[in-house]
Amino acid sequence: MLQWIERVGRGRIRVNRSSASIRGRFAPTPSGQLHLGNAATALLAWLQVRSAGGAMILRIEDLDAPRCKPGMAQRIMDEMRWLGLDWDEGPDVGGDFEPYEQSARLDRYEAALERLRRDGLLYPCYCSRAELQAIASAPHGLAAEGAVYDGRCRRLTPEERADRQARKTPSLRFAMPNRSIAFTDGAAGPQMFAAGAGGDFVVKRADGIIGYQLAVVVDDIEMQVTDVFRGWDLLDSTPRQLALYEALGAPPPRFAHGPLLLGPDGSRLSKRHGDVSVSSLREQGVAPERLVGWLAWLTGLRDEPSPATPEALIPEWNPERIAHEAVTLQDNWNRHLLDCE
Ligand code: GLU
Repeated sequence: MLQWIERVGRGRIRVNRSSASIRGRFAPTPSGQLHLGNAATALLAWLQVRSAGGAMILRIEDLDAPRCKPGMAQRIMDEMRWLGLDWDEGPDVGGDFEPYEQSARLDRYEAALERLRRDGLLYPCYCSRAELQAIASAPHGLAAEGAVYDGRCRRLTPEERADRQARKTPSLRFAMPNRSIAFTDGAAGPQMFAAGAGGDFVVKRADGIIGYQLAVVVDDIEMQVTDVFRGWDLLDSTPRQLALYEALGAPPPRFAHGPLLLGPDGSRLSKRHGDVSVSSLREQGVAPERLVGWLAWLTGLRDEPSPATPEALIPEWNPERIAHEAVTLQDNWNRHLLDCE
């Protein structure tokens, strides 16, 4: 697709983003503040899009209402802008595919569920928490979205199903195709998932909440996302999402997964590793360029942690340099950020 461009003042070029051929997104869940890990993912996703002259979408993934905190989406947006990251479509700026909050898009997810149901790709699951826990401790391995489900409710007879239905509200599971799924990750290269690796997954919980996998695919299709850049923790979700794209008759985007940040003890970054939120570093007087330059270095994009704006990093974007899987912070990781003020 040809981009519509306009020369503005001194030879600068403005791209009409709604016709951009590359469309990427950052899709935070407003369950907590923007921390260093999310900020690194947001920066890399933004660089991928901007280096290609593409359009950036910000989507708020607030389906799991009990986990989301009031005002958190706004805080995340404030911190992103402070870092120097912007977007062309999002809750506060609008766009062709409004609304950009998942909680306001339930009709779309229900329509997709209807289509999958009609095509015989969903089944009710009556397993209790205890049963699922027992499955979890069986030697199936773990997927990012919890234990691999063994498909037992898929095999219920109509009588067993009717009997269970009378006693329990089921969740709905998507029946994964019984074949391996391969794709090439834009940062980590070829990936292969064996048949059954992820198991059948929940697209609607018994409490009515729509599952992450379904919502993200429905939205990425409708918002015409061409390039997904996100954290390594979601790599295991990609074969599930590819199966959903196929079931919904839509071409999938390109996927790339950037590194997770781990605390010095090797566990996922969290409050116990100190002030890992962008806002606390900001409050301590760290300049946004210092944080951005440090994140670019930490994730492998740069050789030195010297200060940089996101804009200045655009020409340096190179997905092959990005670290895979995880980056472990050193003890006193924040000394560099705080000392230099
Ligand atoms: N909402 C998800 C998260 O915060 C990200 C979804 C995605 O990028 O596909 O982890």
